[in-house]
Amino acid sequence: MMRQYELVERVKRYNPSADEALLNRAYVYAMMAHGNQKRASGDLFFGHPLEVAAILTDMKLDEATIAAAVLHDTVEDTEATLEEINKTFGPQIGALVDGLTKIKRLDLVSKRAAQGENFRKLLLAVADDVRVLLVKLADRLHNMRTLGFMPPEKRQRIAQETLEIYAPLAGRMGIQEMREELEELSFQNLDPEAFEAINRHLHELTAKSEKLVEEIEQTLTTKLKAQGIDAQVSGRQKRPYSIWRKMERKSVSFEQLSDIFAFRIIVGTVDECYRALGIVHTSWPMVPGRYKDYISTPKQNDYRSIHTTVIGPGSQRVELQIRTADMDEVAEYGIAAHALYKEGVNGNSRLANESRAYQWLRRTIDLLAEGDNPEEFLEHTKLELFHDQVFCFTPKGRLIALPRGATPIDFAYAVHTDVGNTAVGCKINGRMSPLLTELQNGDEVEIVRAEGQTPPAAWESLVVTGKARASIRRATRTAVRRQYTGLGHQILERAFERAGRAFSDEKLKGALPRLARASVEDVLAAVGRGEMFSGDVVRAVYPDYKDERRVGPDGKGTGQPDGAGTKPTGEQPTGIPVRGLNKDMPIRFAPEGGAVPGDRIVGILTPGEGVTIYPIQSPSLAAFDNEPDRWIDVRWDLESGSTQRFPARIKLQSINEPGSLAQIAQVIADHDGNIDNVNMKRRTQDFTDITIDLTVWDLKHLNAIIAELRAKRVVSRVDRITG
Ligand code: MN
Repeated sequence: MMRQYELVERVKRYNPSADEALLNRAYVYAMMAHGNQKRASGDLFFGHPLEVAAILTDMKLDEATIAAAVLHDTVEDTEATLEEINKTFGPQIGALVDGLTKIKRLDLVSKRAAQGENFRKLLLAVADDVRVLLVKLADRLHNMRTLGFMPPEKRQRIAQETLEIYAPLAGRMGIQEMREELEELSFQNLDPEAFEAINRHLHELTAKSEKLVEEIEQTLTTKLKAQGIDAQVSGRQKRPYSIWRKMERKSVSFEQLSDIFAFRIIVGTVDECYRALGIVHTSWPMVPGRYKDYISTPKQNDYRSIHTTVIGPGSQRVELQIRTADMDEVAEYGIAAHALYKEGVNGNSRLANESRAYQWLRRTIDLLAEGDNPEEFLEHTKLELFHDQVFCFTPKGRLIALPRGATPIDFAYAVHTDVGNTAVGCKINGRMSPLLTELQNGDEVEIVRAEGQTPPAAWESLVVTGKARASIRRATRTAVRRQYTGLGHQILERAFERAGRAFSDEKLKGALPRLARASVEDVLAAVGRGEMFSGDVVRAVYPDYKDERRVGPDGKGTGQPDGAGTKPTGEQPTGIPVRGLNKDMPIRFAPEGGAVPGDRIVGILTPGEGVTIYPIQSPSLAAFDNEPDRWIDVRWDLESGSTQRFPARIKLQSINEPGSLAQIAQVIADHDGNIDNVNMKRRTQDFTDITIDLTVWDLKHLNAIIAELRAKRVVSRVDRITG
């Protein structure tokens, strides 16, 4: 177990002005608190917080973080209290320990939904202080290192959770070393056989190729030196988990895997990175498709490096990472390397320098604040953690990093929620493109917007970013509610008018308690949804009012809709002249055979889309039998003498003989019907089925045409189609 002076020395090595007394106090306090507690391994428990602290000293973190690491299990597992910690160590360390205690308590619940909740709280704690998360990751790392002492089921669960949540999180925060180790340990526990097999292969390979690594290192160093670049070259074998993942992904065997070696070239400047790359590429053939420049386009977690693969000495494929010493530090320690410790040790300015990794956390937290379903959150988090990224640009050159598979809709929402909500089209690299195009690295995306737009609900299933999905869901919800309240308002206006009573929001407000609703808007929405009868609202506002008949959404087009007796509200913007609907509501005819004036009609409300008008006899209406709240009473609102035409569909059976179709068309033309579309299907030798879409003025007009058709010898049958 680490001694007191060893802990202090570790910190002093990178932070000579560290508060020695604080570290000593934390050490003694935790040692006393944990006393003789033992871990599953049989070792003294106190060894665990010390190891966690040691991991964090490798990341050169400030002494408050180190102290919090030493104390991280005291409040939950010992007699120690938070007040005592606050008193002894001050509010800053108190807050860190408090955050860690909360996460630990949440950890005890292992159901899936609860896990999402855990993670959400965990990240919210981080929003306050990212160091809580760093200690948590170190804690998890040490627990993973000592996982062997746990019972098998517990081991599986912890390893799975580590692989799904903590390893990617470490990666996203830029702590690659930790991510790799967490992955290796999880892999080892989840699939011990695969792990052993790959390790065995790797050992055999090492025996054979020890010389090769050295040789490549030498060759690279010499070549670079000859061009005046002082580079530090180091080669290593890849880790079992990354090899295994590659084998899975590409379904290849170990023998077929060619690039098991990775070399890192550390140089002094960015300029030297590119020069070194030039030297490498002119010395050996490069493998196409493997070159990536994360220096000009850094990863979301601020990782910067050049990646390439060449066919190197001995025809061995060699993967190379070229970067400066600074970039290397960020690659290994991530945000810890430059966001925290370098900002100083007093902790107050710790968040001043927001790296991209920290921005990612912020985005995740924004998402948390928006959604309230933990399942939903876990889904988004996994999504954002596991997908590779694509980098796109706004016309002004702002870099937008998105998960792979993202569309311009995701892009729009990443720029701003308003941009997403009003997006109607896009240009990719200057060319008009569908909003559902999968974005590629380097695409320049310009979003075409139209104000007053609502995103289609269907987008929700087409986007890949959590932010876009949450925003679309919210916008759709709002739009649907707006439609219902608008509809409710129309219905009530008419109901009050019919009752001969005045209607206003103020009057409605006075009746809210009687209606058991919290706001006028709630009442309107309830009426619009059909949850409340308009007559009940009238009686609530005017308790003395007695009506002869109940008013309200009473089912399928009674022919006595709410609007009876009111003056026409005018034509709909869509050109469908019906009453009973809010003017802003999108409205259309059923696609399979519409309604014509004279038909009794009913509207079916589809939230987020609008109202579809059906003739009451339409067989399609059966599908809505169990959803009475979607049925809306509507009636025609057509001025006499109108020449507007309406779509109808008829189906004929005609005898196969020359000129029969011409005769049919002639009948329709003679009666001033317009044929829009004809569809013929030969049924038998003798008969053909013909479907005709035509437009007519009204039902009388249509019936006249049908009657005339029936009278024709070549026509054996005529039916109207109403969906
Ligand atoms: Mn712990």
